Parts: sequence; structure tokens; C-alpha cells
Amino acid sequence: MHINLISDTITKPTPEMLSAMFAAQVGDDVFGEDPTVNTLQEKAAVMFGKEAALFCPSGTMTNQIAVKMHTQPLDEVILDHYSHVYQYETGGYAYNSGVGVNLIAGTNGKITATQVEAAIKPVHDWLPLSRLVVLENTANKGGGSFYTLDEVKPIRQLCRKRGLKLHLDGARLFNALVETGETTQDWGAQFDSVSICLSKGLGAPVGSLLIGDQDFIKNARRVRKVMGGGMRQVGYLAATGIFALENHVERLKIDNNRAKVLGETLQSLPWVESVRPVQTNIVIFDLKAPLMADVFLKKLAEQGVNAAPFGPATVRFVTHLDFTEEMLEKTVEILKGMKN
Ligand SMILES: *Cc1c(COP(=O)(O)O)cnc(C)c1O
Repeated sequence: MHINLISDTITKPTPEMLSAMFAAQVGDDVFGEDPTVNTLQEKAAVMFGKEAALFCPSGTMTNQIAVKMHTQPLDEVILDHYSHVYQYETGGYAYNSGVGVNLIAGTNGKITATQVEAAIKPVHDWLPLSRLVVLENTANKGGGSFYTLDEVKPIRQLCRKRGLKLHLDGARLFNALVETGETTQDWGAQFDSVSICLSKGLGAPVGSLLIGDQDFIKNARRVRKVMGGGMRQVGYLAATGIFALENHVERLKIDNNRAKVLGETLQSLPWVESVRPVQTNIVIFDLKAPLMADVFLKKLAEQGVNAAPFGPATVRFVTHLDFTEEMLEKTVEILKGMKN
């Protein structure tokens, strides 16, 4: 049995998804004529109580389009120092939008209204203009931690008062919502734009959605095109996204619970220094010296379990649709058997 805990992006389309692809009606989406893409976009917009949505090849693209749309060159984006937009998008904010970042050292990838307020710059010729705040939910590098709506609302109010836009990188938003019971409509109402990934926990092979108002999405289509993201008969992929939104949201609770079991197991092992609080489907833990991540991961791989380093002595496990109960039991057994 091969077990892969590297990321929730590694899942393969299910047989039902493949059937949905075969059955999809398609057209040229650059002309807006792919009915399956249009259905997916309308579905996502309605889910979040917004007017429109845009299907894109990746979450990097949906975030980058959002930054581009909300800013002008010489502006500044306020965000947590762990943010995907800052850490893992190749510095695209500078390249695509000509903006800087104002990084906040939050708690497990989360920032507060007080921290945002302190970060907003006064208006002077010699300072960048604070224009956009980006929140990430769940926070990936933050260990899968999540915001509640009560934490987001003061940030929203502050942004309104100070004239800043608010974007949500909701790559794994649904992993949070199955825990809090909060709704997509409530979340949509707090943000000017929302990005969600279909290819993470939801298990679709490709794709993300940018969600916002009509004018915003109309212009975002132009930015997607200039980034090379206008696709043709892409309804074949959109069909898997529709299936995922209809069938794979509630089951994320299972992934979250399996991650908790892994976290509790690790907590009890003598060679583990500490485990970050497991809130969703990500488990980040530190190894006890002198054990290093590369040595540990090699031993783990020899027993058929693959995972990713997250620092010299830090490791990340991510649970997902293709990580079964049987695999969970096997992984727990392997971890408990490791002496290191
Ligand atoms: C995965 C991810 C993205 C988008 O990544 P792509 O690989 O470009 O689809 C954006 N934000 C977060 C927090 C992510 O984990």
C-alpha cells in the first residue's frame, strides 16, 4: 500500500468525476460558450451570494488576478507573513501588479483587525498606498488553522472605513466551514473577492474559481486572458468541479478527523518535539533533536509513506480524498513502530 500525505493536491479524479467529464457538454470558453463552465461559475457565484465567478487553471492565478484587480502599481498589500500569496506565488504580486507587501507576523497564519490597523500606512508621496488586505482560510503554512466569521468581521469593518479592499484566499475554505458550520453566503458577504480551489480537498484534477461582482469578474476575464488562462473546451474540467462542489464538501470532515488522529498519535511519540494544533486536514510537527526531517522522511518512505519537509526538523502531513481509513490505520501503526 502506497500512502501519500504530501498534499491534498495529489488526488486522482474518481470514477464518478471521469464519468462527469465524458458526459460534459462543452464549447469555446474564450467566447463564453462552454455551458458546463458557465454552470460551474453560476453555481459558485450563488453559493457565495455574489454576482459572478471565473474558472481559472490554478489558485495562484485566481489570487494573482485578484491582486491585479484591486491594486495599482506603487500600492501595498497587507497580509500575514505565511500567506500563500507572499510565500508560494513566485513573487507574482511584484511581477504582475507592481505592488509591495506589508507583512504581518500573525498567529498560525492569522491576523487581527488591530494588526491590520497598525499596518495601514499614512498617505504621503514617499510611502506606498495601503490598498488591499488578503486573508487566507484555512492558513496552509499556519498548520490548517481557520478564522471564524467573528474574527473576520472587524477586519471587514476596518477595510470599509479605511477604503481598503479585502480578498479571501479560500483555497481550503470548505475544510474550515465543515468545522464551524458557517455558510459560504456569510463568508462571501465579508469579502470583495473570494478564491476557492477545486483541486485541493475537493479532489478535482484542475481548477480554481474567482468569485465577485459582475464588473469585477468582467475585468478579471481580461486579466485571465493576458495571463494566458483563457481556455477552450474546458468544460471537461469544470464538470469535475461541479461534481466536487456537490459531493465532496461534507466529507472534508472525514479528512479533518483523520488528521486529528495523526496529530494525537504523533503527540504521544517520544521522537516528536511538538505538534501544532490540528484544526483541519493539515498536521505540522517538529522532530526532537537530533532527528532531522530528511532522515525521518527517508525512513518513512522506506515503509511506504510519503510526506513533505516543512523546515529542517519540521514535517507536514496533509489528509485528503485518496487517504483512506485503512491507510490511516497503517500510518498510525508505522508511526508507532518507528524508533528513530
Ligand atoms: C494551493 C493553494 C493555493 C493555489 O495553489 P495552486 O497550486 O496555484 O492552485 C492558494 N492558496 C493556498 C493557501 C493554497 O494552499
